[in-house]
Amino acid sequence: MESKICLEYRLNSGIKKDVYLTKEQLVEWMQCYKTNTRFVVQIDKDVHGISPHLVATFEIKSTYLEKSELDLLLNPASEEIEEIIEPEKCTFYITCSCGAKYYRYHEIDRRHLMCLFCKQKQVFADYSVGVVEGEQGIGYSMTNLKFVDRNLTRPPLIDPNRT
Ligand SMILES: [Zn+2]
Repeated sequence: MESKICLEYRLNSGIKKDVYLTKEQLVEWMQCYKTNTRFVVQIDKDVHGISPHLVATFEIKSTYLEKSELDLLLNPASEEIEEIIEPEKCTFYITCSCGAKYYRYHEIDRRHLMCLFCKQKQVFADYSVGVVEGEQGIGYSMTNLKFVDRNLTRPPLIDPNRT
């Protein structure tokens, strides 16, 4: 039979209680405590419910736990979340009213640029079309052929065709 570990907790009211939990249940308790969600657990034929916000302090009697097991309890291997790390620079596909159509590589949050060809007109980042894809990969569109809403927030640079 799996050894159980004593979770001793004291409620805000001062009442002290304890439950004996398996390691998995303890991991769950830790998660509940961190996220302030009710912890419901079945122990043999009893069901216990603990509201973390009513718990003032708690203690895990770790006599039966190895240090590594305790570490695992406190920092359970979380599911890998694919983090989107955006580059500092990206491609801008530029269309200017002077007829020039080209791309440039610039800081990702750049909102306007002087046209490289006519050197007279500004082109503006058009976030309304989202992330665009061209020969140089994904990037943003910059234009002065239409009115560009400057209040739009930059869409994250994620390949729109990615599944
Ligand atoms: Zn131009």
